[in-house]
Amino acid sequence: IRNLLKDPSLFKEEAFINGVWVKSLSGKTFEVTNPANNDLIGNVSNLGPQEAELAIAAAEQAFQSWKNRTGKERANIMRKWFDLIIANTQDLATLMTLEQGKPLIESAGEVAYGASFIEWFAEEAKRVAGSIPTSTWSDKRLIVMKQPIGVCVAITPWNFPIAMITRKIAPAMAAGCTIVIKPAELTPLSALALAELAQRAGIPPGIINILTADAEQSIAIGKTLCASPVVRHLSFTGSTEVGRILMAQCAPTVKKLALELGGHAPFIVFEDADIDAAVTGAMASKYRNSGQTCVCANRFYVHKKVHDEFVEKFAKAIQVIKLGGGMEAGVTQGPLIELAALAKVERHVADALSKGATLVAGGKRSALGGTFYEPTILSNVTNDMLITYEETFGPVAPIMSFESDEEALRLANHSQFGLASYFYSRDIGRIWKAAEALEYGIVGVNSGIISNEAGPFGGVKQSGLGREGSAYGMDEYLELKYVCLGL
Ligand code: ADP
Repeated sequence: IRNLLKDPSLFKEEAFINGVWVKSLSGKTFEVTNPANNDLIGNVSNLGPQEAELAIAAAEQAFQSWKNRTGKERANIMRKWFDLIIANTQDLATLMTLEQGKPLIESAGEVAYGASFIEWFAEEAKRVAGSIPTSTWSDKRLIVMKQPIGVCVAITPWNFPIAMITRKIAPAMAAGCTIVIKPAELTPLSALALAELAQRAGIPPGIINILTADAEQSIAIGKTLCASPVVRHLSFTGSTEVGRILMAQCAPTVKKLALELGGHAPFIVFEDADIDAAVTGAMASKYRNSGQTCVCANRFYVHKKVHDEFVEKFAKAIQVIKLGGGMEAGVTQGPLIELAALAKVERHVADALSKGATLVAGGKRSALGGTFYEPTILSNVTNDMLITYEETFGPVAPIMSFESDEEALRLANHSQFGLASYFYSRDIGRIWKAAEALEYGIVGVNSGIISNEAGPFGGVKQSGLGREGSAYGMDEYLELKYVCLGL
């Protein structure tokens, strides 16, 4: 791997605690492999609960001074980190593609997206402001101040190995908090490279700590982090199932929680939609990262008048998708992350076909072997099929037709999830009504891409709690304190 990097020292296999690169106390490591070819790419320190305690202690100590820095001081250091990330985009993208599988161009896009949160919250660090409500007592004054919540924990997934980390730690750091991060076991290398750049930027020891661990030790570390009374906030992105476990584990110490869990995004094409634009949006929303994002369109509802045209154009459009290893030039879709992911996609497609769905395109493993799966479109999908209510996390687009707006919106809202939703229409009244009616945290109107640092990202229902990014993202990491001042 080092040979593929301009700066080989960005390749780290040790964990990062209190500004020091550390092996696990047990001396054990776990393997990180390339999903495109199963090659071993790293042996990373496999930490456990004891090291988690050390990281919490380091973060607790660092908090005492970091919280007292001015917002401007924190902003300046974060800005240096942002600049270093941008300057090392190519190496970070290479590491990400090797461990995660997404095409290099998508990885570079994620580096920019991930870095944008550091830039954004560095700026926000200077603008935290309390308030002075008018007192109802003539002899007293009321003051509301905002203060950092304390030591925070971030547990992150493999689908966005950099952005899911920066989206959490940038607002935490900007607010004056310190953080312990447990990156996904499948993609720890990107996280460790970020830490190396943080150190070079002059971020003091203990502000950012990274605990690397395999799946089993991640569970043990999770218990320690959740049980700690020192940790005041836990931010998690991942499955709803694990989110529930962490929420329960945090109950005894009453931690503040930010949970960004599963989604099952509906994508509605109304009869007045610009069909070509809808196809472009559908491609971006469905097949990015091989369909492995929590905001990927999961169910397409297309008005019966434009159904056939949409399906035909969509099927033609996906022919340009080029499958392959993410490091190869021209590749636009990489492998799925692991065999279990492939098995789930196959199960969803088989279930749909057995219940009467029509295969429009794809529908099978790619000839490339491994975990490569062809971009797939199914039509004549019905609500009894697994794919319409379980998150697929793969490159499969199930299409249903509808006859009225009410029907489309009712079907779209029929989900335990409430993260992203999308629709295409040019009618202003319909747009307004649909945007209001969709029970989702995010609505993409005539747009298949919705994520950026300025918009609040997060879901309703069982998709989670809290919002990340935007002017609201910082509030997660700030507590309000009300001071009543007698004159
Ligand atoms: P995904 O479905 O995206 O793999 P998971 O929810 O399984 O998502 O994992 C997301 C993150 O949560 C990973 O960092 C993983 O190691 C961690 N994780 C999984 N199970 C637990 C658990 N019981 N306690 C703490 N962390 C966990």
